[in-house]
Order: sequence, then structure tokens, then C-alpha cells
Amino acid sequence: MIIVMNNTATVENIDNIVDRLQKATLSTSKIVGAEQTVIGVVGDTGKVDKELLSTLPGVEKVLKVQEPFKKANRAFKSTDTIVDVAGVKFGGDKPVIIAGPCSVESHDQIVSIAKSVKAAGASMLRGGAFKPRSSPYAFQGLELDGLKLLIEAKKATGLPIVSEIIAPRYLEVFEESVDMIQIGARNMQNFDLLREVGKSKKPILLKRGLSSTIEEWLMSAEYILHQGNPNVVLCERGIRTFETYTRNTLDVSAIIAVRKLSHLPIIADPSHASGKSWMALPLSLAALACGAHGIIIEVHNDPANALCDGAQSVTPLVFNDIMKCVNTIDNTMKEIKDFMHV
Ligand code: PEP
Ligand code: MN
Repeated sequence: MIIVMNNTATVENIDNIVDRLQKATLSTSKIVGAEQTVIGVVGDTGKVDKELLSTLPGVEKVLKVQEPFKKANRAFKSTDTIVDVAGVKFGGDKPVIIAGPCSVESHDQIVSIAKSVKAAGASMLRGGAFKPRSSPYAFQGLELDGLKLLIEAKKATGLPIVSEIIAPRYLEVFEESVDMIQIGARNMQNFDLLREVGKSKKPILLKRGLSSTIEEWLMSAEYILHQGNPNVVLCERGIRTFETYTRNTLDVSAIIAVRKLSHLPIIADPSHASGKSWMALPLSLAALACGAHGIIIEVHNDPANALCDGAQSVTPLVFNDIMKCVNTIDNTMKEIKDFMHV
């Protein structure tokens, strides 16, 4: 439920509404805008009398939010949320490009890739230390040693780092090691993990589940927001469809829909979406044209011998071309922004 206060509402009027709702054990969040204040209400709103509320001093209107996600809902917060990751801002005008290998393999590998993506203009480094693999026999990542190597790559380049957490027991070490914690597609509905990272202050990169609807995805974001962590960035990484030519299908419509439904920033992952390195460039541009706030892309210095996801990893040379094209489309996007009704 949303209570829109009118532009003559006093602080007492607003406090009076908040007090009433809190006495009814509902949780409230006040959004103070330049023109008017909006009070978002979450909980069992069935027990409040909406007719009565709308007659109280200072109230302009009381609206019911149809969608089950509340704090993630654009109706609760009309302006885009900016998530700040060690100075890198997701959700603003400039697209954020995250690049790096699927998994951290060695000191030389991660440091050399970090240096080349930084030189090409990336703003963050990715690298999996804990890898959720379909096969128990496949490379599972360097785990804690991988996190240490990521820190070395950060020291060598200054790039903030993002890496995937696979279980709540690692939260403390992730909080000490990385700038942003990734929840992978396979864990999008690991509610215990979502609750734990929701108690953290670290920004979270929440990937869309392989077969999850947009609503389920936003409900997973809601778990994190509900625990008190407002710093959630969504990532469209392709969904499973009947098509087998590509690894997944990049759902560009979901980017447009999320921009409308939610105030949270959203980025796209063309690498896991297609599974093919040569598709990364056009898919990156497509995602940005649909309103994505950034791209996360797999880059490897020797894709043919990568321990994980080599076929979808671009070389540093190709990444350099992608960066050039991203900058070109970014300038075009600025010109056409007013025509995009998102
Ligand atoms: C990854 O980013 O390396 C990864 C495993 O992604 P996803 O969870 O989207 O498959
Ligand atoms: Mn990967």
C-alpha cells in the first residue's frame, strides 16, 4: 500500500500516519520528495481501514500496490536507485562494464586479465572463486585462494571486485574480500542465502534464475531489501527456452520490463546468455539499447584453455572492441533517451 501525502502535509501529519501504521504492526518507509512525501507500507495491510486513512489530515490518496514486490516496486520509489560499489555507480547515466574470467585460475591469469580490461576501460573486475558447476567432477574454483588472488588483482589495478557466494557460511570472508557479492542464477531462490546477504551492507548482484519469471526475480530482490540491504543490482543472464543453438536466450524484454516495474539498477550478461563469445558484442549493444545500466562480460587471456566457460569468453582484444562500441552506443543512447518511455 502507498500513501501519497499532499504538498501541504506537515511533519505532524506524516508522523501521525506513520504512528498509526506502526501501531498496527505494519512496516513503513518514508520517501521524501521535492514536492510531496510518500509512505510505503508493507505487511498485512488488510487490517487497516483505507477509507479512514484517506480522510486523515495531509493525505492526498491511498493506493494499493497490486504486485507482491513492494520495496523493489517503482511505485514505492519513483526515482532510479543508484548503487555505489566502491565509487562505481550502477543506475546512473554511465553504463558500468564489469569484465573478467569466469573463474580465477592463477595469480598471473587474473592479474593479467585485470590489467587488460582496465586498460580497455572496464570499471570492475569479475572472477569466480566458488563455482556452482552442474557436474561434481568439473573444476569447482580455487575457493578461498581464489578470493585472495582477486584481492591481488584489485591491488594491481584498483578495480573493485565482484565474486559469487554459494553458501551463507562464507558471508564473513566475502564481506572482508570483495566489493560486491554475486548471487548466481542457481541460487536466485536460495532464500536462506538471500536473507543472509540482506543483513549485509555489501552491494549484491542478483542474477535471474534460469527459469524464473520477472516477478519471481523481483521477489528474490525483495528478500534482500526486506532484510535492510537496499543495494541490489539485478542481472539478466539469459533464460532457458526451447532453443538449443544458444546456451540460453537473452531476455531483452525483461530489461525493459524491470526498468518499468522497479527502481533497482539492471545489467545484462551476454556471455552466459549466449554461450558464444562472438555474440557478446551485439548482445551487449542490444541490452544497452533496451535500457540496461551495464554489462558483465567474461574475458579470458587464453579462452581455448580456460578451466570454465572458454567458448563464451572473449579475448582482451575483442573486449577492447566491445568497449569502443559500448561508448558509441552510450552517446547515441543519450540522444534518444527522451524517446524511451521507461
Ligand atoms: C557466473 O557468473 O560465472 C555464473 C555462474 O553465472 P550464472 O549464475 O548466471 O550462471
Ligand atoms: Mn561463467
